[in-house]
Order: sequence, then structure tokens, then C-alpha cells
Amino acid sequence: METTAADEVVGICRDLLRIDTTNTGDPRTTVGERAAAEYVAGKLGEAGVDVELFESAPKRANLVARIPGADRSRGALLVHGHLDVVPADASEWSVDPFSGEEKDGYLWGRGAIDMKDFDAMMLAVVRDWSRTGYVPPRDIVLCYTADEEAGMEYGSQWLVNNHRDKFDGCTEAIGEVGGYSYTVNDDLRLYLVQTAEKGLDWLRLHASGRPGHGSFIHDDNAVTALSEAVARVGRHRFPTVVTPTVRAFLEQVGDALQIDIDPDNPEVAIAKLGPIANLIGATIRNTANPTRLEAGYKDNVIPGRASATIDCRTLPGEADRFLAELRELIGPDIEIDHVHQQPAVETAFGGELVDAMGAALRAEDPGARTVPYLMSGGTDAKAFSTLGIRCFGFAPLRLPADLNFASLFHGIDERVPVEGLKFGVRVLDRLLRNS
Ligand SMILES: [Zn+2]
Repeated sequence: METTAADEVVGICRDLLRIDTTNTGDPRTTVGERAAAEYVAGKLGEAGVDVELFESAPKRANLVARIPGADRSRGALLVHGHLDVVPADASEWSVDPFSGEEKDGYLWGRGAIDMKDFDAMMLAVVRDWSRTGYVPPRDIVLCYTADEEAGMEYGSQWLVNNHRDKFDGCTEAIGEVGGYSYTVNDDLRLYLVQTAEKGLDWLRLHASGRPGHGSFIHDDNAVTALSEAVARVGRHRFPTVVTPTVRAFLEQVGDALQIDIDPDNPEVAIAKLGPIANLIGATIRNTANPTRLEAGYKDNVIPGRASATIDCRTLPGEADRFLAELRELIGPDIEIDHVHQQPAVETAFGGELVDAMGAALRAEDPGARTVPYLMSGGTDAKAFSTLGIRCFGFAPLRLPADLNFASLFHGIDERVPVEGLKFGVRVLDRLLRNS
């Protein structure tokens, strides 16, 4: 019997899980990205696909391949996945996090859902096409990246800065984090398609004062000034803002769950949504969380400077208004440095590709209904969207109703349901054939 993509996907995913690609955030201790990219290159090479490997730094490998479509005048579809994973502490896990063990209907390992599952689906689909001589309707650009988990500097952002021509003609992209199911009842599953991401702005605040001896009366203390500002920011609740994506999410989920939802009163609306509320709690307002403090060098010396880091996450279109509000809170005497910035992204939930996502899901799950959502974290889509590409989180998975999927991201005992993986590869194949 012919091998199918669904037959291959589990073995490929297991192989990828066994390659430790831990990204610690420190290039000296980050491992495996080159080995994983070479594995992918080998699998694509067997399928006759030409690949290019690009190293942004020693062993920080990224892979790009273009599969020519039947109509080369059409815009290409970028299909992307990152190969790195966040660290896993084996002592906390019930299995070895890099064993790719299969048990209880799941494939276990760091990266099983973030995102070697989708990496494997991409490979399995393309290898199937090569076995059967299938040509997709338009160009497909496959991209496997390094360094998604630590800021994208050596991965997608580097590719966009240094090899943007590889993405020429790409009009749309799919990658993480979306396309997974949330079970309402036996006949209805919502599949959340990511159409927007919050922006990220890591700020360093600096307060200056008069240095002095800790035993004197002192009214110009940098530590005091900084602490007051940090406390005001940390305790502040920014007002709710309902972006087009969140509005569509609330309306459609309210309709699906048959509950009365008022999108203009999002806090009340979200409280009615039950477990699904966790996903979007942080998507109705900007946030600013203090994460680091630095000041002083001796117990009896008042330092002249004190600094703090604030992790800010902003909604699409809100960056300027947010900064003005933050400046007001912090006051005029404290300096603000932007340490690291990534823009928010948002695209409309509509068009042929979105229709094709719904059709591909319904063909495999008649109870499927797609819903757009805004994610509070960030992905490689941030880099790719700067090229004018419409980015979607669509890495399809049908999940068991009782699985706490969100807790598995960067979590202990990360695992992917084997049947979900096979479902995902069938949906991805259908989508790519009809997009
Ligand atoms: Zn990821």
C-alpha cells in the first residue's frame, strides 16, 4: 500500500523531538538548530525539493525552499515553522523530554505542540506530493527558522533583514499559533485561527538623583523615585480596548455558545466564556508588568542612578496611546529606553485563504467552526508581516475535549495527540491544495 502523509507524520515528528534544539536565549548554550535543519533538508532532498540553508551565526541554521506551483503568476503562500524549543527540566517530566516517546495516544516531548508537530506536517505533506507527482495551485515557500523562542534575532528577523528576496511574491503565510480545536459539545468544535498578535515593548526606566551617605537626611534619592514610578505602573490597569479581531471573536463565540455577549463590555463578556476566557484575558487591554530592578552597590551608599525593566504588551494600533499613558504614570523626571520592540500585527479574518481553512477543517470534522483570535504573545509572524505578508496562525490540530492545551505551551509533559497530528496533516494537505 502507498505511504500517505498521515502515515509518515508521526515518525517525522518523533525524529524531530529527538533532536534537542533547546534555545536558552544565550547563543553559547543554544543547541541543535543546525542538526534539525539538516534533518529537514534531508527529508526534503529525498522528495526532490531544492533547499537552501542559511546560518545567521555558527550552527544557527534557517532553511528555505520554494515549491513551484501550477500558476506562477499568483502570490505565493509562505508556510513556516520554528525548529528551536524552550528548555525542559527532565526532572519535572514524566518522560525524557527528548525521547519522542509514544504512550497513551500521545507523542511526548519538548516541542510536541510548539512546534515540531507542524514542522512534521509540512514535511509529510510535501513528501506525499512528491511521491504522487502533485503540483500545488501556486508557489509554496517552506521556511524553517531558528531562534523563535528568544527574540528571532538569529531566525525570521535575520532572514527578513538579510534574505528578503527568498520571500518575493509571498502574499500570505501560515504558521503557529492557531487552528486547534476547542470543544463546545459533540457536534461543535471551535477552531481558533490567529489573525493578530500583540506588540512587545521592553522598556528600561532610569531614575537619577543625588548620590550620598545613607546616614544623612536625603530628599533626592533615585531608588525612591524609581520605586514610586514602578509601583504606579505595576498597579495600573489600562483601559479595555476592543480591536476588530477581539470583537469578531466575542461575537462569534457568543453565537456558537448561544450566550448573550456584549463586545462593548468585554470584561463581562469574557467572564461568561468559561475556560476559553484564559486565552484572551490579556487581549482586551495593553499591559505593563515590571520585571527587573537594579540599583546600588553598598548598603550605606545612596546611588545616583536606579533602573527597572517593564515588559509592555500593546494591542494593534495602540502603541502611541499606550506610551503617552505610560509617560503620564511614570512622570517627567524618569528616562525611558526602548530595549527591544516588536510591532503588533493584525489582519482581517476574510478572503479565499480563510474560506479554504474553514472548508479544509469541515471536510475532516463536520462540527468545525473557525473563529479569529488575537494572541497576547508573539511569533515569527511579526517578522514576516513586515514584508507585507498577511500572517495567520493555522497549524491544525483536533484536540481531545478535556486536554488543557494552553498549559502545554512551554509546559511540563508537553505532548501532542497522535490522532490530532494525523488530522492536522490531512487538513493542511487539503488547505494547500485549495488555496
Ligand atoms: Zn512556537
